[in-house]
Order: sequence, then C-alpha cells, then structure tokens
Amino acid sequence: MKWYQKLHWKIIIGMILGLLWGVLSVGMGWQEFTLNWISPWGKIFINMLKLIAVPLVLTSLVVGVASLSDIKKLSRMGGKTIAIYMGTTAVAVTIGLLAVNLLKPGESIPKDLTDKLQKSYQAKVQDKESNAKKATKDRGPLQPIVDMVPQNIVEASANNRNMLQVVIVAILFGIALIQIENSKSEQLVSILDNANEVVLKVVDMAMLLAPFGVFSLLANTIVSVAGDDLSSITELISALGFYCFVVVLALFLHAGLTFSLMIKFLTPMKLKTFFKGIGPAQLVAFSTSSSGATLPVTMERCEKNLGVEEEVTSFVLPLGSTINMDGTALYQAVAAVFIAQATGISLTFGDQLTIIFTAVLASVGTVGVPGAGIIMLLIVLEAIGVPSAGIALILGVDRILDMLRTTVNVTGDAAVSVVIANQEGQLGEPHVSDADEPHFVMSREEKPNV
Ligand code: ASP
Repeated sequence: MKWYQKLHWKIIIGMILGLLWGVLSVGMGWQEFTLNWISPWGKIFINMLKLIAVPLVLTSLVVGVASLSDIKKLSRMGGKTIAIYMGTTAVAVTIGLLAVNLLKPGESIPKDLTDKLQKSYQAKVQDKESNAKKATKDRGPLQPIVDMVPQNIVEASANNRNMLQVVIVAILFGIALIQIENSKSEQLVSILDNANEVVLKVVDMAMLLAPFGVFSLLANTIVSVAGDDLSSITELISALGFYCFVVVLALFLHAGLTFSLMIKFLTPMKLKTFFKGIGPAQLVAFSTSSSGATLPVTMERCEKNLGVEEEVTSFVLPLGSTINMDGTALYQAVAAVFIAQATGISLTFGDQLTIIFTAVLASVGTVGVPGAGIIMLLIVLEAIGVPSAGIALILGVDRILDMLRTTVNVTGDAAVSVVIANQEGQLGEPHVSDADEPHFVMSREEKPNV
C-alpha cells in the first residue's frame, strides 16, 4: 500500500489542505462559500461520530460487563482505572505548573496589550461567566454523584454530553444480565454483541469520511477565528505566542514523557506501535476538539489496532472521555498562572496546590466538547482569587489550544486503556500495519463463513 493510501496520511493531507483552504478563503473573501458549502461536511462527520457514540458504548459495555463472570473484577478494574486517571491528571497539572512558573509567560505581556485584550473580549467573558454560573449554581458537594445517575434512560442517551450516565446505565444492565438465568441472558447478549459489530461498521463508514471531514473542520476553524482579517490571528499569536508555546511545550512533555514512560514500563507494547495505532484518533481529536466525538474512533483503534480487549475498552474509554482530561487540566493550570502573572497577582505555594486540586476536579467535570475547558477554568480562577475577567486575555487563542489539549486527552485515555488491559491480562497482539484502513472495505464474499 502506498503511503498516501493509508488512513492517517489521508487525514493529515485533509488537515493541511483544510488549513490552506481556510487561509485562501479569508484572503480571497470566500468565507461565505466556505461556511455554506465546505463547513457542513465537517458537521456531518462530527454528527456521524456522535451518532455512533451512545449505541457503541451501550452495546459494547453491556456485553463487556455481562461477560465478566465476577463482579469483583469489574470493581477492581474500575478502582484502578479511576486511580490511574486521577494520578496522570495530577502529573499533567504539575508539569504545566512547573513550565509556567519557570518560563513566566505572563510577565512578558505589556500592560497596554492586557488592557486591549480585556476590552475586546469583555462581552464573550460575560457569556462564559454566566455559563459557568449555570454549571455550578446550587450545587452541593454530592451533586456530581447525583448527576451520574439518570432518571430516564432515553434522556440520558439523548444528551450526548453526559456519557457518564450512559456508562452507569450500561453497567447496571450488564450486572443485571449476569444475575439472571443463563438461558435467558444468552440470547440478549448475543443480539447486543451482533449489534456492536454493526455499530463498528458504522464507525468504519464515518472514517471513510474522515479526510473530508477534517478538511472542512479546519477550513471552518480558520474562517471563523479569522473573520475578515487574517492579521487578527497573526497579531494574537505574536502577542500570546509565548503563552501558547508554554502550553504546547508542557502538553508535549506530558504526552512524550508521562504517556511514553507508562507504555514503556507498564506494558510490553512498543512506543511506536502505540503512537502509530492511536494516530488517526489523535488527528480526529485535533480536528474536532471533542473527546466525546472522537470516542468511537479511539475505541476502534484501541481494540483493532492496539489489541486491547473489548472488555477493557468498553469500560475504560467512555469513562476516560468524560473524566480523564490531562490536556485540559494542564492547560487550566498554565492559563490560571499566566493570567495571575499578567495581572500582577502573586500566587503562594498554597495557591499552586489549590490549582492542582481544583484543576484535577474541574477537568473531571469538563465535558468532552469544544471549548468546555475554558468554562471550567473559571472554577480554578475563583479558587485562587484571580478575577475571571482575566480569561479575556486568552480567549482569542483558545480554539487552537483546545485542539491540542483534546489530542492529549484522547491519547491519555488510550494509554491508560493499554496499561489496564496489560494488568488484567486483556492485551492481545497489536495489528498496526494491516488494520490501517477502515474494515468497511471488506466485502461479504471476502468474509469467511457468512
Ligand atoms: N475540548 C476538550 C475535549 O473535548 C475539552 C476542553 O478542554 O475544552 O476533550
């Protein structure tokens, strides 16, 4: 197979062409054409991924839980998963804090620029503030646990934003299936298993659209961020370039060190195999800025390419897409300290510890959709007494950083799934080379025994 026929190269080419098209559209005044005729394809791609997410989690997790003969195994795996998720997120925040405290990007921002940025983003900040207030209004300490249990299964699945509720429903259903007579549960499990195969084929179909999807998503991002004038992007980047650099550096350090060390020392998998296998999911995460929308791709890549058994992916990955956001937590730590530095507020060691604690919790509460991280950042700012209006400073470059932090979020979920699979004896042989293409291309005649 030639290199450009491989899926991840097709996606990379789609991304590059999308960026170029976005820049060309702004330069030539074609924004309207791009928004009307190009952007909808990206929306279709994201819709398809979201469409698959709930059926995929429901079918695979119910079957996964039902096939566990003992519930102890489930609670052991659950405890381990949550502990590793929290641990890696705390490491991510610490890396972010070290980078921002050592490099001090906030101190290089001139006062007149902070005033200008604050003025131009004031209205948007108020919007975010009211969203954050809505999210935290009247919430007692146990509200996150209350939110996990849905009162209506259809409503839980209808609202793609709350995958945790779907996970809870699937686990309850699976446990109940173990407890009824085998003769009764067998048929239902086999139907769900078959339904799961069908859903995976739909993932393949969505992936055929991926190169076009990312093309249009990136073109759309450039057009919407730049508006009529490309210089607004370049101006922002040159002003906030150092801050972006610190976020990106810390994200790379976390992905390159923490995840790599985890894979190297806690699993027998080669690093190259891991990153090659998860590559297309990273590219989709980068283009969609949504770990929720990327979930079907992450699950498929981990199962088919990295050899993680469905029993693990179906549990660890949906949970990770909602509670494990290393990139987001790291970004929140850097952003909070950056705003404090730029506005001349000095932070104590205790404040830095508060940042670690609140950023880990805020990232758990962040839903896997674009821009959610900056809303939860307000909680971190409040905890350390930095004025929330300060997010005006960083709003302009948030979209770009969102793409990168989402990529790290998804990579973290995948790395933890490989570690858990290895510990549970559920890690098979990876198949990176032959499974690089969507399996959809296999026709009925090629399949054995159909
Ligand atoms: N977009 C991120 C995600 O979906 C969340 C965020 O940091 O805004 O993982």
